[in-house]
Formats: sequence, C-alpha cells, structure tokens
Amino acid sequence: MNNSEKINCHLHGLMEYALVCQHLANQQQGDQPVEYFAAENIGAEDESEVENVWCKSCDDKLIEQGEWNDISEAFAAPKIVCTACLQTIKNRNLKGEL
Ligand SMILES: [Zn+2]
Ligand SMILES: [Zn+2]
Repeated sequence: MNNSEKINCHLHGLMEYALVCQHLANQQQGDQPVEYFAAENIGAEDESEVENVWCKSCDDKLIEQGEWNDISEAFAAPKIVCTACLQTIKNRNLKGEL
C-alpha cells in the first residue's frame, strides 16, 4: 500500500481521493444542483485510478478550449476530495452525459 495515494479527510479519515473542480468543491449546502461530468484517469503505471469530476461551466470551458489545457485547468482549479465527499457532491447534483 502506498499512503501517498490516499488523503486524510477531516470527515472520513484516510480515504482514496478524487479531483473535483473548484465550483463543485466549493458548493454550499442549499446551492442549486448543477450538472456534473465524470471521467476516470487511469494512471500510466498501475493502481492509480483517480476520478475527475467537473461542472457544467467547466465543461463549457473545456469544449471552448477543445481539451484540458492551462486555460481550462485554471478555470476548473481542481481540488482534492475524498471519494466519500465526492459521493456527497454527486448526490447533490445531476449527472450529465459526456
Ligand atoms: Zn467547475
Ligand atoms: Zn471526505
């Protein structure tokens, strides 16, 4: 096991992590649900499967840019969250079709 693959969530303890755009990560309780999009980045080597999740406005930026580049990544400014926190974010929002 490699602990660098995990984060210590203040709610859930030592957990696998995912990358979530700043807009979803910073949502407050009571905010309107938004569409979200999810993709899995399979690590080149082996074990690291990190899920990436981003919101509709990030997706618009992604489409505008055509790919994840400096501009679209700066817009998304992904945050690391644990997979349980990610599930909470997903439950609160609406899954969009890629
Ligand atoms: Zn976003
Ligand atoms: Zn958590």
